[in-house]
Order: sequence, then C-alpha cells, then structure tokens
Amino acid sequence: MNVHDSERMSGLLEAAGYVRAEEGAEPDVVVFNTCAVRENADNRLYGNLGQLRPVKDRHPGMQIAVGGCLAQKDRDTILEKAPWVDAVFGTHNVGALLALLERSRHNHEAQLEILESLEVFPSTLPTKRDSVYSGWVSISVGCNNTCTFCIVPSLRGKERDRRPGEILAEIQALVDDGAIEVTLLGQNVNSYGVEFGDRLAFGKLLRACGEIRGLERVRFTSPHPAAFTDDVIDAMAETPNVMPQLHMPLQSGSDRLLRAMRRSYRSSKFLGILDRVRERIPHAAITTDIIVGFPGETEEDFQTTLDVVERSRFSSAFTFQYSKRPGTPAADMPDQLPKAVVQERYERLIALQERISEEENARQVGHEVELLVTAQSGRKAGETHRLSGRAKDHRLVHFSVPAGAEEPRPGDLVTLRVTEAAPHHLIADPRPEEYSVRRSRAGDAWDRSQAESCGAAAPATAGAAPGARGSVSLGMPSLPVRVG
Ligand code: SF4
Repeated sequence: MNVHDSERMSGLLEAAGYVRAEEGAEPDVVVFNTCAVRENADNRLYGNLGQLRPVKDRHPGMQIAVGGCLAQKDRDTILEKAPWVDAVFGTHNVGALLALLERSRHNHEAQLEILESLEVFPSTLPTKRDSVYSGWVSISVGCNNTCTFCIVPSLRGKERDRRPGEILAEIQALVDDGAIEVTLLGQNVNSYGVEFGDRLAFGKLLRACGEIRGLERVRFTSPHPAAFTDDVIDAMAETPNVMPQLHMPLQSGSDRLLRAMRRSYRSSKFLGILDRVRERIPHAAITTDIIVGFPGETEEDFQTTLDVVERSRFSSAFTFQYSKRPGTPAADMPDQLPKAVVQERYERLIALQERISEEENARQVGHEVELLVTAQSGRKAGETHRLSGRAKDHRLVHFSVPAGAEEPRPGDLVTLRVTEAAPHHLIADPRPEEYSVRRSRAGDAWDRSQAESCGAAAPATAGAAPGARGSVSLGMPSLPVRVG
C-alpha cells in the first residue's frame, strides 16, 4: 500500500513537470513516504533528514516533504525535530503534496496538513508506475478491525471501498497500457463491499477480473481469515486468471493470543480455510505473517504456533518479533516479553519455516512452470547470468537461458522445468527442449518504456550485470529535479 502511494507521489510530481534527478545530482525536491508498521521508522526518518540538512543549506530553494503513516502519527513533531522540513502531509491527503510545496515556497514557511479522513480516493491521482508489466490496484483503503498490535486503523482510518466499475476501469487502463498482471490491494482485501453492503463483492470482483481480455494474472493482498468466505475460494478456483497463490496472515497459532490480539478467528478456522483452498486449488502456494513474542505469550502458546505452522505447510512466511507501537492497545499490556526470549523463539520459528519452505520448494523440482520474467535479477545474477521470474504461484525462480535459445524481455512469459530448490527460491537450468518463450504485450510495453526513457536502452542480455535490467525499487519515490 505504501509503495503504491509512492507511485502516486511520483505521478503527481511528474504530472506537474518534475523529473527524476540524475544519479549523483542534488535534487530540488526530496519526498519521504514513511511507514510506521515496522520498528525504528522514526529513527531512520530523522537520521535521513539530518543527513539532508547540510545538502539543503548549500542548495538554496531545495524542498523536503514528509508524508505517509509516520507523518500522520507524529504530525507537528516532525517540524519540531527537523524544522528544515518544508511540508508534512498524512495518509489521507497525498494529493495535497504539490499544493503544500507550492505554498511553502510562496510563504517561506513550513506547511503541515493532516486530515482525519480520506477526501479523495487516492487512485484518482496520477500514478507513476514502477513496472509496465504488472500493477497494483487499490480496491479499498483503511480497516474496520482493531487488532491490538496494529497502528493501521488509527493512521489509515475506517475502510473505504471503491466502486467496482472504477476498479475495473483502472485495471482495463493498465491492461491497455501493456500490463498482464494486477495485484488488488486492500488492508483487509476480502472485506471489500462492507461499505456498500455487498458481502459477496470481493468474489464477484475476482470473477469480473476474469472477463478482462489480456489480463493473464490476478493476485490480491492481504485477506483476513475472519472474513474469508467460501465464495472467494470458489471464485479463485473457477477464474483461470486468478493465480494459485494466497497470503493468509496467521499471526499466532494460540487461540488465547488471537483473542488478546483481537483477531476474531481461531486456529481451527484458519486451518479449515487452508484445507478448503487446497481441496479446490491443490497447487496453491500459501504464505503467511506471524508475530513472535506478543505480550503474555507463553512457551505453550508458542508451541501451539509451531504446531499450526507445521500443519499449514506455508511456502514461506513473513515472521516478526513483536515490538511496541505507541498508541496501540498491546503497547500498554502487561507481560511484555524480554528480548532474549522473543529472539530465541523467533529463531526456532525461522528454523522450522525454513525447513518447511525448503521441503515444499523441493517438491517443485522437475515440474514445468510458467514464469513472468521480471526486470530485477537475483543478487548473484552477475556470476550466474541467470534471469528471474515469478511462477503462477508467485514462487521466485532464477533461470538460465539455454545456449542459442531466445532471450525473454521483462514482461515475457517463459515455460521451463525447475531443476533445484532452496528455501527462498527455485532454480531452473533447463535443457533447450525444456524451455520456451512466449513474447507478450507486456514485453512490448517494456521495450517501449526503455525506448522512451532517454532513448537509451536496448533489451539487456542474460549476461548483463545485476541492475542493468532495471533497478530494484523499494518504493521510495525518486529524487526529482525541477526543470524549466
Ligand atoms: S486487519 Fe490488518 S490492518 Fe486491520 S487492524 Fe488488523 S492487522 Fe491492522
């Protein structure tokens, strides 16, 4: 969600005539889009702001803006701690970025504008997409749940749903531009429809995506187990372009802790969802989020989590050590656990999940998979000359192109046989007869985007250095330089 907001900030700036700063150049405007979900976001923000102060001192007219969740949470504290910041805006008024920069320039004083609720659905703002072959589409923002560890409801507000027609029009526009994959986004994606009173709206939306010609891959994140109904599983199973992938956040296997977290499902319901998904979509890869060391977690609670993880056979898991978020109910709970206890449990959980991930990945060896080739290659691509792609179930596969075989472009689809497995990725070094390329509209769009960006780029080769196929974006907007 945060990365997609960054695309909107870049889009707003570019629509107003800003351009990406050349590497090494001092930018005229720097925008930080902050996230408050992970620990230490504030330390990192103030560290970065501190580093920019001397740059700003020697660069008259340079402007710094801070937006996102941390800005929504800290508000005027940012201007107190870093008075050289020019504009602060929150999660509900991304669209105000340009006006705040302009006003600050005109009035020679910092501008702060934080709204308590959403004025305009952010998807109506211009968007500078990171990728031409794949795009995010917000279907809702905000969340009506009150998980006790989570800062999101207080920073993103109550759930607001977009109308299905608007969502489908945005997807169609993306597809018309060359994208063949979309990921539907929402803090609680499957409660979509709650605002306009249709409990079946999410399943219907998935089926409607199946009607869009040229759209080959549909994904969504993140669902909530409490509201995950069988009509959604049916829609996934019966809509060919909805991918066999599900991210289903567990958080804890202990029912006692789920209650304390105010997560309204229990582990039996969670496991039941997984069973039904696998019954209808046997090849689905299921991933999860787990928090270790929630206040009051006993060794017995943690063992229950390990048991549920063992039974769930996740293909991978995002694991987090609990840390307090000031302003959340869990931050004030008694029985906060010592760091050493949390660390030790965390390591046991990682070891278990790594084993399961490796075993599940090993089952893929010998299978034929279709990959959507990505612009980013693995860390070792410089040595191995392998390219990378995502399988239908979203597994990451690093692959080599057999000698003399056709080189795919990012956005093209290759079909090949998996030859090796590791916990976090698969490897395919196929023989020529086990490898084929399907050139796609998305690959054509990639070529066009490369040609448009300074007329420079011919498609990179398999032997290109890592990074030569497009840089890995972590969602930070680029540093734009004003022209004209
Ligand atoms: S459902 Fe997700 S976004 Fe909503 S409160 Fe819980 S953890 Fe936060």
